[in-house]
Amino acid sequence: MIQRIANMFDYVIVGAGSAGCVMASRLSEDPSVRVLLLEAGGPDTRREIRIPAAFAKLFRSECDWAYSTEPQPRLNNRRLYWPRGKVLGGSSSINAMVYIRGHHSDFDDWAALGNPGWSFADVLSYFKKAEDNQRGASEYHGAGGPLAVSDLRSPNVLSDAFVEAGVELGFPRNPDFNGAGQEGFGFYQVTQKRGARHSAADAYLKPALARPNLTVRSGAHATQVLFEGRRAVGVAYLRGGHAEEARAGREVILCGGTVNSPQLLLLSGVGPAGQLRALGIRVVADLRGVGENLQDHLEIVVGHQCTQPVSLDRAETLGNLLQYVLFRRGPLTSNVAESGGFVKTRPDLPAPDLQYMFGPVYYLDHGFTRPKGYGFGLVAVLLRPQSRGRITLRSTDPLAHPAIHANYLSSDADLTLLVDGVKLGRRLFAAKPFDPYRGPEARPGAQVQTDAEIANHIRRHAESIYHPVGTCKMGADPLAVVDAQLRVRGIAGLRVVDASVMPVLIGGNTNAATLMLAEKAATLIRR
Ligand SMILES: Cc1cc2nc3c(=O)[nH]c(=O)nc-3n(C[C@H](O)[C@H](O)[C@H](O)COP(=O)(O)OP(=O)(O)OC[C@H]3O[C@@H](n4cnc5c(N)ncnc54)[C@H](O)[C@@H]3O)c2cc1C
Repeated sequence: MIQRIANMFDYVIVGAGSAGCVMASRLSEDPSVRVLLLEAGGPDTRREIRIPAAFAKLFRSECDWAYSTEPQPRLNNRRLYWPRGKVLGGSSSINAMVYIRGHHSDFDDWAALGNPGWSFADVLSYFKKAEDNQRGASEYHGAGGPLAVSDLRSPNVLSDAFVEAGVELGFPRNPDFNGAGQEGFGFYQVTQKRGARHSAADAYLKPALARPNLTVRSGAHATQVLFEGRRAVGVAYLRGGHAEEARAGREVILCGGTVNSPQLLLLSGVGPAGQLRALGIRVVADLRGVGENLQDHLEIVVGHQCTQPVSLDRAETLGNLLQYVLFRRGPLTSNVAESGGFVKTRPDLPAPDLQYMFGPVYYLDHGFTRPKGYGFGLVAVLLRPQSRGRITLRSTDPLAHPAIHANYLSSDADLTLLVDGVKLGRRLFAAKPFDPYRGPEARPGAQVQTDAEIANHIRRHAESIYHPVGTCKMGADPLAVVDAQLRVRGIAGLRVVDASVMPVLIGGNTNAATLMLAEKAATLIRR
């Protein structure tokens, strides 16, 4: 039986992740509107969420959807693991906290694809609005916004060595990847406050919880958008084994992320008519692009044994825990991906096409493989993949995971670039600053030398670095799912606001841009 408990709202938001927390907070600033936020996961009470260095311990926990891709033909038919946050804060509660916005040209490209209002000049004010940067306000940064952006409190000596290695190889030193230019080597700023993770739930949701016009229901899994004709009027969801419904007088806003937003649209009858009919789903709107245009950052590790006991591999000690609890300092404040670099593999490129993230630790197989001893490593990230995938329904069961056809390396150019990424990664670790620390290469390993051997190694070991986007892309072409105001095309009262609307994957980590686009969407709606 469907329960209709206090179920009339102005806005019903699905998903309390990075974007959903922004939307709930900004929309409920207006005391005259009633906002409901539905989240499938639970409260963010686990200690590992707060302690930065512990983020990988949340993998495959109850805070993780733990998706897997379909077997990847170009990756030896492996299924790749896709963690996604299932908890208040969503993926911002389990991510690596790297604060990167992307390259200025990424947003100019979005605008050029038929999305007025999304150029870098247009979106900079929303990045700044979100931000409370420890370094203060400037041309490129905001202070006093909800999200704490900080320098690492206790950076590791190996992370310094990585920056110096980049400089030794002739790359510029870059103290601010989110300033005038992205290229070069430096430390990442992190979404932390006084040494603890600052998720979207911490930054946006918790300060708004006392508002009488905001209702948050966790453990509430949205199963369908409800329509009257072509107008979205509410959301059906499961909570505690019961089917419930909530009505939205103004709008339903989908913030379920790149996997769930297309899944929920498809389940609700919005998507390619052929796919829907084959599953017996009534077609509300035939939108070809729902689930298409999937893009993700693929990475490959270059790792070494470390000859000195300075890495984070054995950081889980009582002393370090005490230092963290008492002073919020020490190795446990590390986000693991402490320093890095953005590199153009050809000087004529308009923007970097490789990103490096360095960790003073072995980071193999998402942290599940933990060799003995000490290690360090980098991930080389294919920043602008040509490959495109798609997400489709497996069944009409809303609790079943959809099929993720990531289609990694379907473009040969992507593989060539990752091979270059490994070769440059090796040069970085061969540089002088690593002389005091460099042990034997653990990955790919001395036996992997020629380009063909490196390519084979990539097929066996490349993994996602967790930035899927694009499955409900904004635009004006036939595959666009939402318009430049993030309204679902052909439907009234329905928007998608999350990483799925990015038309093209940005050249960098995706959390800051997701928060930015939600800030902008909230302004558009309130206007
Ligand atoms: C392990 C990991 C590390 C990462 N590291 C970084 C990093 O260091 N820096 C960076 O910038 N980015 C990083 N990212 C990526 C970044 O966190 C995401 O791009 C961003 O959080 C996406 O925001 P979103 O709002 O689109 O989705 P999410 O934050 O994933 O939010 C979606 C929310 O919707 C909920 N939901 C889904 N389906 C339903 C449903 N049917 N009903 C109700 N609720 C539902 C989910 O439980 C979740 O809370 C990382 C991601 C992961 C997973």
